[in-house]
Amino acid sequence: MTDSTPSPKAKSHGRLASRPTLRPSELMTNTPDLAGVWKAKVITLFPEAFPGVLGESLTGKALQDGKWQLEKIHLREFGVGKHKNVDDTPAGGGAGMVIRPDVMGEAIDFAMNGTPPDRQDWPLVYLSPRGKRFDQAMAQRWSKARGITMICGRFEGVDDRVLYHYGVEEVSLGDFVLTGGEIAAQAMIDATVRLLPDVLGNAESIEEESHSHGLLEHPQFTRPAEWNGLPIPEVLMSGHHGKIAEWRQKMAEKITRDRRPDMWERYEASQKGNHKP
Ligand code: SAH
Repeated sequence: MTDSTPSPKAKSHGRLASRPTLRPSELMTNTPDLAGVWKAKVITLFPEAFPGVLGESLTGKALQDGKWQLEKIHLREFGVGKHKNVDDTPAGGGAGMVIRPDVMGEAIDFAMNGTPPDRQDWPLVYLSPRGKRFDQAMAQRWSKARGITMICGRFEGVDDRVLYHYGVEEVSLGDFVLTGGEIAAQAMIDATVRLLPDVLGNAESIEEESHSHGLLEHPQFTRPAEWNGLPIPEVLMSGHHGKIAEWRQKMAEKITRDRRPDMWERYEASQKGNHKP
């Protein structure tokens, strides 16, 4: 993990100077970059929030093992004036503050410098409740890129011109409003990183799990064989792999039909499509 924010200047400015997340640029440029390893660059006002939960368990181990990389870019470093301001009041009035386009623009230029020019290879994404809803297909697409740059908003969001100017893709975690983009970024990085080769120990679990084939996953059970008077379904104890696979498929279909009619409709349509001569 690197914290690449470029600002030796910050050393001499007020209370920011003592923050441990602000490192001299020498250190940052010396941080080794693992060539060819998928990388998430995250522009945020709260770099200390990363890796956060991504530092735990499988994603954390994979990060340590150099199977993916994280670069935190501290938006504050690009702020203007003595106080490194990043935001201002909304044009036209109203509540809250808006992140300035010049400040965000410089952070984006810094982040995108040296990345592949084709956005397929290196998406530039703004976490936003107005964005396209994040899903498994997007995680799959991103995991095939060489890396991604994510912009975490705060306050009322970022000046719209910056999104327009850089052709930023807006992506939402869901139909609710968070205080900032950091949690959304971590959720999306998690979903993407676990699809990278070698990150999950058991690659088969990716093939079968919810959303990978347009169905939700079948129910899972483990020991004890009976718990609170509830036995594990008999077929799972039978050792008959064919029957188990059949049962799991049926349960996945039933759960999807019951809980997600929208997914079920798409699944049925795709099955019909597959059977066309
Ligand atoms: N005023 C904005 C909301 C700002 S919330 C609006 O109504 O659209 C502050 C920041 O949190 C946003 O800039 C965005 O980066 C992040 N955020 C909030 N909800 C989100 C969601 N559902 N998905 C992804 N990011 C979100």
